[in-house]
Amino acid sequence: MLLALAACGDDELIPRPPPDAAVAGSDALPDLVVDPGRAAADLALQVETFAVDACELGVDDDCAGGPGARTLLRFSVQTPNLGDADLQLGSPLDNEDFVYSACHSHYHLLGYARYELVDAFDATVAAGHKQAFCLEDGVPYTDDAAATRRYSCSFQGIQRGWADVYESRLPCQFVDVTDVAPGAYTLRVTLDADGRLEELDDTNNVMELPVDLASADLTTPTEACAVTDPRATSNPTRECGWELDATWTCTPGTHVRVGCAETCDGLGACTGDPMIRACDHAEPAGCSNAAQLERFPDQDDACGSPCPRVRDVVCPPGGELDVFVAPEVLGEPFTCTVELEEL
Ligand SMILES: [Zn+2]
Repeated sequence: MLLALAACGDDELIPRPPPDAAVAGSDALPDLVVDPGRAAADLALQVETFAVDACELGVDDDCAGGPGARTLLRFSVQTPNLGDADLQLGSPLDNEDFVYSACHSHYHLLGYARYELVDAFDATVAAGHKQAFCLEDGVPYTDDAAATRRYSCSFQGIQRGWADVYESRLPCQFVDVTDVAPGAYTLRVTLDADGRLEELDDTNNVMELPVDLASADLTTPTEACAVTDPRATSNPTRECGWELDATWTCTPGTHVRVGCAETCDGLGACTGDPMIRACDHAEPAGCSNAAQLERFPDQDDACGSPCPRVRDVVCPPGGELDVFVAPEVLGEPFTCTVELEEL
């Protein structure tokens, strides 16, 4: 497939830095695409309140429409490099293509992705913004991906076969839809809209996803997943395929922990490979990954076991905690015997 796409013309190729060990040949180039499955699986609406001095309103990040309560369409952007060479950018220091992000506390490549919500007439209905990225090896993506990570925020790039991942929970990883009427739209993500990165194919840099802003699926994580690719769905950020295990009562303001992990301190038990998510039962905006009360790595796997726990969650004012569970891999059998403990 990529060989056919490479027919876009050698005359468009301009000299690039010396190839490193991973480069297959002198004509080798990276090829970046947006994973549509990951964007679809992680799509959620969330209400978030911004202070006037929030980094999201600052000049560098500038991704929210204003201070106060905003309705955000959150999604993950997973961009695999499906080409035959690494995308190698190097150190962002003293490089004018990068800017420091106050929201993310690292350097971003300017102009990497553009987010837009458009209507049936292709008119932009939500102020799209250019999202800058730290590009790094997030997850191995293709079957022949190298085993070890090569690029990070301090020496940026994406190894061939690996994907960079900007998870839906991250600052600015959204389109602000506060002023958009409910209805059907298209979420469009365009990579490298200005054509500054050399790739095998520049025609596959646009991802479009239909979005119904009135759909209850955007505020509940319990609908069936429309995509099944494990690279898109086997993540705690998944906004589909969860089930409400129980609504627990707790003393408002006290710290609690929740889990089905028999390891470490021992709280509950599990079989298979479940994940867990805890939210404020009274939260009208639902229980997206970004809205859950606390986020810890061991909401998925705790202490070297596949059983998850959520540590030190503050019991919400209403005194009710919704606990959702799901298999990490869609369709896999699991049990997650949840227990809750006030600290
Ligand atoms: Zn960042």
